[in-house]
Amino acid sequence: MANIDPTALFNLSYGLYVLTAKDSATGRDCGCIINTAAQLTAEPPRITIFVNKQNYTNDVILKTGVFNVSMLTTSANFEVFKHFGFQSGRTVDKFADRDDPRSANGVRYLNQHCNGILSGKVVDALDYGTHTLFVAELTEALKLNGEPSLTYDYYFQHIKPKPEAKPKRGFICKICGYIYEGDELPADFICPICKHGAQDFEPLS
Ligand code: FE
Repeated sequence: MANIDPTALFNLSYGLYVLTAKDSATGRDCGCIINTAAQLTAEPPRITIFVNKQNYTNDVILKTGVFNVSMLTTSANFEVFKHFGFQSGRTVDKFADRDDPRSANGVRYLNQHCNGILSGKVVDALDYGTHTLFVAELTEALKLNGEPSLTYDYYFQHIKPKPEAKPKRGFICKICGYIYEGDELPADFICPICKHGAQDFEPLS
């Protein structure tokens, strides 16, 4: 057996981003939260993003090949995560009551709680089971302000509400705080709020 301590993976650091796209067939804007965006190469300028396939935005990017990454700052509040992370673009139009601007590629981006945007044009989309790994050419990069970038760790420490009264037995979603009550968490359980799988739950102590 490989010696894999899953908690060791929690020591990786991540940022948090709103990933947006536009469905060219319907004209509909969509967006979701991702924690994996990175520069791949400087020459040519390329970035990677890793997107859960349950996200409607994943489907749209597979079709259009165009997206924006809005880099969130520490000024972001929990509402941003509830709005973009805890509901699905398959059932909700997340931009219905918003007037977020569009970048040169026609895709919306956040100009609040965001210190910059990266526009990507997909050059490769690799299916990794639960997620798609997109490699994209950078078509535009804008710095909006000097606010500090939000890290995943900062989100957990300062933004995500702390769970209140806990039931005796159950499992808590480490992403959004949803509590599954019961003695055993099914291996294929998907969080109804944030759509993360059983691997992102931990037993209530
Ligand atoms: Fe969750």
